[in-house]
Amino acid sequence: MTALDGPARAARDAPSAVRHEIYWRSTEPVAPGPPLTGDVHCDVAVVGAGYTGLWTAYNLKRAEPSLDIHIVEAEFAGAGASGHNDGFVTPTIGHSLEGLVGRFGPERAKSAYALVGRSMLELGRFCKRHGVDAELEPSGYFQVAASPAQVRRLEADLRLAERLGSAAGLELYSAAEARDRIDSPAIHGAFKVGGSLINPHKLVRGLARVVRELGVTIHENTRATRVERTAKGPVVTTPHGRLSSDKLLLATNAYQHRFWPFRRKVVPVWSYAAVTEPLTGEQLAQVHWPGREGFVEARNFIVFGRFTADNRLLIGGGPAPYYYGRDMDEGRHMDNPSATAELRAILGRYFPQWRHLPFTHAYGGCVAITREFVPHVGSMGPDVYYAHGYCGNGIAVTHTTGKVLRDLMLGRRTAYTDLLFVDGAERGFPPEPLSFAGARAMTALMAGKDRFPGLLRHLPD
Ligand SMILES: Cc1cc2nc3c(=O)[nH]c(=O)nc-3n(C[C@H](O)[C@H](O)[C@H](O)COP(=O)(O)OP(=O)(O)OC[C@H]3O[C@@H](n4cnc5c(N)ncnc54)[C@H](O)[C@@H]3O)c2cc1C
Repeated sequence: MTALDGPARAARDAPSAVRHEIYWRSTEPVAPGPPLTGDVHCDVAVVGAGYTGLWTAYNLKRAEPSLDIHIVEAEFAGAGASGHNDGFVTPTIGHSLEGLVGRFGPERAKSAYALVGRSMLELGRFCKRHGVDAELEPSGYFQVAASPAQVRRLEADLRLAERLGSAAGLELYSAAEARDRIDSPAIHGAFKVGGSLINPHKLVRGLARVVRELGVTIHENTRATRVERTAKGPVVTTPHGRLSSDKLLLATNAYQHRFWPFRRKVVPVWSYAAVTEPLTGEQLAQVHWPGREGFVEARNFIVFGRFTADNRLLIGGGPAPYYYGRDMDEGRHMDNPSATAELRAILGRYFPQWRHLPFTHAYGGCVAITREFVPHVGSMGPDVYYAHGYCGNGIAVTHTTGKVLRDLMLGRRTAYTDLLFVDGAERGFPPEPLSFAGARAMTALMAGKDRFPGLLRHLPD
């Protein structure tokens, strides 16, 4: 992609001016709680204090208040994707509705979307009820098309939603109508998706506070170094103590491949974002954008933008690299100059008036991808449970998963345990170097389809 601006851009994004840290963490300081010391036995142990682990603990505790639940977290609650995602609360399960319908059929896809839709509403109610200020804006977002080919893709999405009977309120906006909502020359058409925008870090920190208030113990700075099944049940070893339990949930998402049974089941793929300084009133007035909705461009490598509560502009997306050997090293990959340059070009393409706005933060994080592009949620025997692989759409789905895991652990058969991604037929990725080669080939194919949708339209998404 060609950058729209030249030398000024290079000066503004000079390494010294941009912090390669997650923007959201600057919105609320974190003081991690004490680690686990000594040996503890409990009813339910959880590894990982992100949305999955926390929603599961929340739902279990509300269903069975007497349960003794302990969570071990390597860093602090929300240190993973839950604290640094882009805050689009979407109904999407896995990669796309189209993919889900293709794999599971329209009826099962429809029921799953109904439960995730309910989670989207319940998220807002949870925040109100427990005084969690997640900076939730119920504005939702627009799925936008930036080319005639993408308009056709939006039309196909709408036809599919109609087939499922869930197109009520969805309407395709022409370029002029869409630009009346977000005045960008890049936009050729759009439709509005419900949902909301949140500050992910404040949501996960608030959720951790509520879970603690319910009586759950969260041991921060406590990395699980070994997990094993013994005659007395599952045991988690950590540097200063062991946690044994009747039931164990592994909820480390993109890190889950580090546990042996999941080494091939999930791969971490990097996703980048950049955040500007807060816009002044004068700068905001340069672009007509009255509803503050987010936007997501309808392509394989999505491109998106939104405001933060303090009127910064967050731009994200572009290529999503996979690094050899499932490399998640933040020291090596948090700063990706070519991703930052691409995000600068996207900003210029969407909002030429703002193309020189300095970025204060440019950073990446790992999205957990499964081979089927659908989350994996289930159990291994009677006492070990797992959930991972939300494919970059996990804010609402993890809320639903928290109920699935509650019901699985309590031995209940409900609409949640019947969801299409529960105990599914899960395929794995090949070992290296095949994973790396496969990821390269898939990336090239998806990028090619974004650039030449007409030529490659016979290939599956
Ligand atoms: C950059 C990015 C942008 C995204 N944007 C969106 C979005 O806009 N909308 C959306 O719906 N979804 C988005 N997602 C996806 C969403 O954030 C995730 O699906 C969701 O947060 C997953 O929650 P989790 O609890 O399963 O995993 P995580 O939040 O990653 O939690 C796992 C936890 O496990 C801990 N851990 C790891 N290993 C160990 C160990 N050995 N011992 C103890 N603890 C351990 C980690 O520190 C971490 O806190 C995005 C993800 C990323 C990475």
